[in-house]
Amino acid sequence: MRSYLDEMQKMVVGTATVLVDDQRCFYDILTKEFEPRLTHFVGAVDSSRGCYFVSEATPKEYQPLVVAHEHLCLMHKAKGRSHYCLQALREELTFIPDSMDWEAYIRFRRAFFDDFVKYGKGSTNTEFWRAVTESRDFLRSFNV
Ligand SMILES: [Zn+2]
Repeated sequence: MRSYLDEMQKMVVGTATVLVDDQRCFYDILTKEFEPRLTHFVGAVDSSRGCYFVSEATPKEYQPLVVAHEHLCLMHKAKGRSHYCLQALREELTFIPDSMDWEAYIRFRRAFFDDFVKYGKGSTNTEFWRAVTESRDFLRSFNV
C-alpha cells in the first residue's frame, strides 16, 4: 500500500477540496496515466478522513461533484444502504450549480457510468456491479 501511494504521489497535478454536508473532502487531481483504462476515474485514498482522487481528464468544474458522489456513495455503503450509489447520485445532482449546463453534466455522468459498468465487467464483486448498473440506468432515463 505504501508503494502504491508513493506511485500515486508522483502523478498528482493539483489538489482541491469540496464541502459535502459538513465534511471537508480533500482530493488530488491525478494524471490520466494513473488509470488509462478509465478516463474519468475517481476513488478514495481514505474515505474516513475525506481523502479522494480524481482524473485530470474530468473537467475542473465537474471534479467537486464527482468527488462529492464518491464520498456520499462510500458513506451510504458504510451504513449498509442497499441503493447507496443511486442515493449518492440523486444527492449529487442536487449540488449542480445554476451556472452549470445541467444537461451537459447528465450526459457526462451517463458516459462515465457507461464506461464504469464496462470497466467493472468480469468483476467478482456483484454488489458493486449491481450498484453502478443501477446508477447508469437511472442516468439513461433522462431524455437529454
Ligand atoms: Zn456511486
